Amino acid sequence: MPIRTGAEYIEGLKARPRDVWVGGEKVGDVTAHPAFRRPVARLAGLFDLQSDKGSRDILTYPSPSSGASVATAFMPAHDSVDLEKKHAAYRAFAEATLGMMGRSQDFMNCTLLAFAEGAEVFARGGERFGENMVRYYEFVRENDLFLTHALMSPQNDRSKASSAQAEEDLHLGLVLESDEGIVVSGARMIATMGPVADEVLIYNIPGLPPEDRRHALVFAVPIDAPGLRQICREPYDRGDTNAADHPLAANFEEPDSLMIFDEVLVPWDRVFVYNDAKIANAIFPDTSLRSYTAHQTSVRGLVKLEFAVGVAMAVARAVRTDRFLHVQQMLGECVEAIEIVRACITRSEVHHEPTLAGSIRAEIAPLFMARTYLARTYPRVIEILQTIGAGGLLSMPSAADLEGPVGPEIERYYQGAEGMPGAARVALYKLAWDLCGEAFGMRQLQYERYYAADPVRNMAANYLNYDRSACDALVEKALALGRQA
Ligand SMILES: Cc1cc2nc3c(=O)[nH]c(=O)nc-3n(C[C@H](O)[C@H](O)[C@H](O)COP(=O)(O)OP(=O)(O)OC[C@H]3O[C@@H](n4cnc5c(N)ncnc54)[C@H](O)[C@@H]3O)c2cc1C
Repeated sequence: MPIRTGAEYIEGLKARPRDVWVGGEKVGDVTAHPAFRRPVARLAGLFDLQSDKGSRDILTYPSPSSGASVATAFMPAHDSVDLEKKHAAYRAFAEATLGMMGRSQDFMNCTLLAFAEGAEVFARGGERFGENMVRYYEFVRENDLFLTHALMSPQNDRSKASSAQAEEDLHLGLVLESDEGIVVSGARMIATMGPVADEVLIYNIPGLPPEDRRHALVFAVPIDAPGLRQICREPYDRGDTNAADHPLAANFEEPDSLMIFDEVLVPWDRVFVYNDAKIANAIFPDTSLRSYTAHQTSVRGLVKLEFAVGVAMAVARAVRTDRFLHVQQMLGECVEAIEIVRACITRSEVHHEPTLAGSIRAEIAPLFMARTYLARTYPRVIEILQTIGAGGLLSMPSAADLEGPVGPEIERYYQGAEGMPGAARVALYKLAWDLCGEAFGMRQLQYERYYAADPVRNMAANYLNYDRSACDALVEKALALGRQA
């Protein structure tokens, strides 16, 4: 089966009513619910892009098993041309969503590629687990399924291991095993796009202690698996948000959920790691997961940064605050951020490195710098946008006012510099506030800080994993000067 169309994705959702709760209501068919209508339509648009004449050569490649067109994010790279194609595919999805949809299809597709190429890691628990992983990758690739994932246990008592929480089965873990498979119970967070996904893949951030063996599971189940429930955060768009007032929230909502597994059966062929903290912890360092996902997220993050900086520059130009030195300095800082992230991506692609599977991947080290830097610099760009926009961001009328009796006064009193019409300035500032002030924008900010796990520990890892040899050699050289005296 080749790549799916948006309509086929929607049909697939309808065919799998799921146990999703939002705003006090149980939703089965998410395609018919106002809170999910727009996210579903946006994702359907991305599916359609894969078969669009203008983008299909970038977004697809021929499947090695069926010859049909499948998504590029599943493609192993063998040379720089392949890496460029993957970059272009990530960029195409990011541009279609202004970088606002962190969990577009390509994120989990490249995750599965890393897992299939790293099947040896899963096979450490027994050959069949490695084989299961490769089969699952092929299954998702050939059916163009949309996956969500949930790596973290919920925030109950972070000072204790999952096995030491106040109640058993608070955190997702094994309940029992049988000939059919394993049965799991407990919760996981955050599953972005969970309500509108086809499947969920469960794995974990490294750091599981040995006593959490029962929680050391990697597996996948369909999103409608009996016993799997999702509780969503309050949506920012309930399908009726006016795009003229909230252009981003009305277009790029990504539902987030907490997943509760209540004795969910996972058939053995969907189990990839079973009760083994050592293997579960090895998935990040021993497969290409970090490189593949950081490549996708850096390209996506760069587009988002370019967009946010574009908004900041436009806001400053609108009222000519860009003539002031300190505003120019802040905008210069924003431009610096874009170019640093771009440089990290370019370096990672030029200095690509071999994988154990015989393919190549973008170099991990600079991608990791981009990842931790983006977690700091995106909030800083948003702070700069708030600072430059200042009170103007809070003085904008609604679209309804523009069309009403006060419309002519808005045109007059809200006009910008150099003849910028009032309506155009209102539209720009409302876009800016959606990005830097509204709940939608604050989620976007929090997403960049936390989507790749705790930024504090990620930054510490930059130090702990750094190849210090060049720095040490220089220090040694300087110390030798003292010894010569
Ligand atoms: C909007 C959004 C969407 C997301 N989407 C997804 C998704 O689709 N799938 C997914 O798997 N993940 C997703 N994540 C990431 C994930 O859910 C977590 O938010 C992330 O891994 C950070 O964990 P936490 O939020 O539980 O923070 P915590 O780990 O609880 O950390 C909170 C604070 O306490 C400190 N802290 C906590 N524990 C320790 C410790 N042991 N040692 C030192 N410091 C500690 C941290 O430094 C931090 O400052 C998403 C996150 C956000 C914000």
